[in-house]
Amino acid sequence: MPSQAAYQPSETSSPKAPDDGRVTPMMAQYVEIKAANPDCLLFYRMGDFYELFFEDAEIASRALGIVLTKRGKHLGHDIPMCGVPVERADDYLQRLIGLGHRVAVCEQTEDPAEARKRGSKSVVRRDVVRLVTPGTITEERLLDPTRANLFLAVARRRVSDTAWAYGLAGVDISTGRFSLSETGGLGLQAEIARLDPREILLPDAILEDPDLAALWRDTRAAITPVPREGLDPASAERRIREHFGVATLDAFGAFSRAEITAAGAALLYVEKTQIGQRPVLQRPARDRAGEALAIDAATRANLELTRTLSGERAGSLLATIDRTVTPGGARLLAERLAGPLTDVAAIRERQDAVAYLARHGDLRDRIRLRLKRAPDLARATSRLGLGRGGPRDLACVRDGLACASELGSLLSIASDLPAELAAAGRVLGGLDPSLADELVCALAAELPLLKRDGGFIRAGYRPELDELRDLQQDSRRFIVALQARYASETGCRTLRIKHNHMIGYFVEVPQNAGEEFLKEPWSKTFVHRQTMAGAMRFSTLELGDLEAKIASAAERGLRLELGLFDALAQRVIDLSAAIAAAAEATAVADVTAALADLAVGLDWSRPDVTEDLAFSVRGGRHPVVEAALQREGEAFIANDVDLSGDGSGRILLITGPNMGGKSTYLRQNALIAVLAQMGSFVPAKTARVGIVDRLFSRVGAADDLARGRSTFMVEMVETAAILNQATARSLVILDEIGRGTATFDGLSIAWAAIEHLHEENRCRALFATHFHELTALADRLTRVSNATLTVTEWKGDVVFLHEVVPGAADRSYGLQVARLAGLPAPVIERARAILTELERSDRERPKRALVDDLPLFAVSARAEPREPASDPLREALDALDPDALAPREALEALYALKAKR
Ligand code: ADP
Repeated sequence: MPSQAAYQPSETSSPKAPDDGRVTPMMAQYVEIKAANPDCLLFYRMGDFYELFFEDAEIASRALGIVLTKRGKHLGHDIPMCGVPVERADDYLQRLIGLGHRVAVCEQTEDPAEARKRGSKSVVRRDVVRLVTPGTITEERLLDPTRANLFLAVARRRVSDTAWAYGLAGVDISTGRFSLSETGGLGLQAEIARLDPREILLPDAILEDPDLAALWRDTRAAITPVPREGLDPASAERRIREHFGVATLDAFGAFSRAEITAAGAALLYVEKTQIGQRPVLQRPARDRAGEALAIDAATRANLELTRTLSGERAGSLLATIDRTVTPGGARLLAERLAGPLTDVAAIRERQDAVAYLARHGDLRDRIRLRLKRAPDLARATSRLGLGRGGPRDLACVRDGLACASELGSLLSIASDLPAELAAAGRVLGGLDPSLADELVCALAAELPLLKRDGGFIRAGYRPELDELRDLQQDSRRFIVALQARYASETGCRTLRIKHNHMIGYFVEVPQNAGEEFLKEPWSKTFVHRQTMAGAMRFSTLELGDLEAKIASAAERGLRLELGLFDALAQRVIDLSAAIAAAAEATAVADVTAALADLAVGLDWSRPDVTEDLAFSVRGGRHPVVEAALQREGEAFIANDVDLSGDGSGRILLITGPNMGGKSTYLRQNALIAVLAQMGSFVPAKTARVGIVDRLFSRVGAADDLARGRSTFMVEMVETAAILNQATARSLVILDEIGRGTATFDGLSIAWAAIEHLHEENRCRALFATHFHELTALADRLTRVSNATLTVTEWKGDVVFLHEVVPGAADRSYGLQVARLAGLPAPVIERARAILTELERSDRERPKRALVDDLPLFAVSARAEPREPASDPLREALDALDPDALAPREALEALYALKAKR
């Protein structure tokens, strides 16, 4: 983090505050602007710094670790203040936004010279030009290239006395994406988890709804309250029509009232935060919600789909499968993984495309090679649209379009393209090359970061600019040429052009030649300025022009360049819809080629996605665990599963030792379902996946103490959600449910849950458990079967074979695992003795086990050695008094004791 050392308050721009309680004009301005933005930290522009005052300064100095100082007084009190240099503001913004703050950027909106004209006391006009919030940032440095940056507006409409329809509008200002969806209250959490917004706008009524309190509390997104109920549908619709300049929304598709209201609220927020700038948003498009596989937040977290439990991308499924080579591709892959489809035809379309590029390795390699050099077209376009772009963004558009066209050519010569690639090819092939050509002609080879530095327009693009630059850089050559011309025209070989600060450029000739210049015809060209000793000086119109040109060439050149920049940026904006389509098609090509590369590289296969309730996998693997094992040089053991049912799914109950591979097995099957439905190939020899509508995955004993809920409570809340929501189409993964409470409580709950899944939900399910008692359910429930993970013992150590076979585990191997884990040997030995005793008493008195609720008591009761009726050894021992024995007697006593044994 940059240090604060360079910071120097700019005293000149800050009139010293009076001590007498009066308010300085500057402070009055500050207070007014701050009052209009109470929920933001105010970055108040002072020369080369943004300064923060009062509480903002205290918050920012703490958050950023920068020095808190004072600047003058306000109402008789010191004003706390800190500041950040403008050119490093991005770093500070990133930190503040990351911490969940919002920042209002307040700029000087006039030249300080203008302000001085109004009087020495007047303050430079300032205004907030932008609100920077987590969900509305566009700067390359503040954004993760592989992640969409959405804010989500939520609105709702009553559909019955007890139910609401929620409209969600997701806007990614950084790419222009604008998507709408609708969901009922039950699906709200999964839908938000799918969209994974950085910021959520909530009308007070929704924010304060007690039924949703947990959702807002648990979300990772920043919550931004908006007043009351939010917008009404009519004004929302008007706002959308106005923004897109259309008379009716019909052309956009059919939207529900809740969606329209949310979309209007989203646009209102864009206006509020972007102030005067209009981002190039695509027309709102309805996400095929309801068509996406519903995966709630807990399941996503548990399966580590896009980030691990600790919040990292590395180690997630996404990171493991991501072979995309462009930022747009990476974002699309994340989006597809977050929202797998449920429409068989749409899934097959994606699979066809992946299969095609898996077969055509040559085309795939060429596509990927070309894409490696492709820039982030969508984000560059967005910055240009917001007036925040620089020359390098224009270059991004140039290079992105060039790449898109070349990709279009590559695809156009391929034969028998599947629909998805053919559609991408059509978009790319249909691009009008004129903008890309123009940018190639216009932009210089080396580009500055900021347009204000100039120098980004290529020589030869505009003759006026070339001339201005020539004047600037090569003014001497002009002068020499002019001098040569004057000398030859006048025949005065000693004529010189010189410069001084008094009269600027002038022609100097010897006195006698000068006399001639005073006469016709030369007096028409040469205007006498000075007579020196032995020399005369003249000015000419040409020289005057030249001088004026040189003097203002730099300024005019820059102005011309900036004008050209704006014109080019405007052309980009005018074409933004086509550019967005090209960016999307490029991303599709990238994702498809990446998934094909993955499938070929790791020997994945195309799953058969069907409408029935099949779920059978042969030779399935867990992609993340397999990759981790591979790094260690170890092999992953592939396993099969079959949960296929007719009308109802099957339930597989898995018992087996700790570390046997139960969790891995469970998760790999859930991941195979997700991968299959996102259109990817899967890590298996063969797979048949009947469309899953909802995926649930739960692990017992997940701690959530930070949120003040006990482990068991979390487990039960999540289990309740599954039992209430799973349908026959769902896939349920339950790992060790019921362990957060006493043995029999837990066992009974697990037992009842399986019965419910079997009888009511009738879904496909995998249930891993330590309760061996549950395996008896396979005899009682028709669609429940048992499986276990094989182990073997070698020289007293347990060896996990990680192979799933039918049947129940006979033992837990808990002690062997404990030994592997390094528990001290005496503890292991003691545990072994207790276990033997427990198992013996369990065999003798099996009934007792069913009533021993608390295992701790059971252990102590059974582990206590029973009192024998009479024990000669003990009696002999008691009779001994070691202090009274001579050494020899002691030895004899020892032999006697030994004999009694
Ligand atoms: P459990 O849930 O039974 O305690 P896990 O699924 O957590 O066991 O697996 C424990 C470890 O065993 C994993 O971290 C992995 O290293 C290894 N493992 C699991 N399944 C396999 C497999 N099929 N092939 C190879 N190693 C596996």
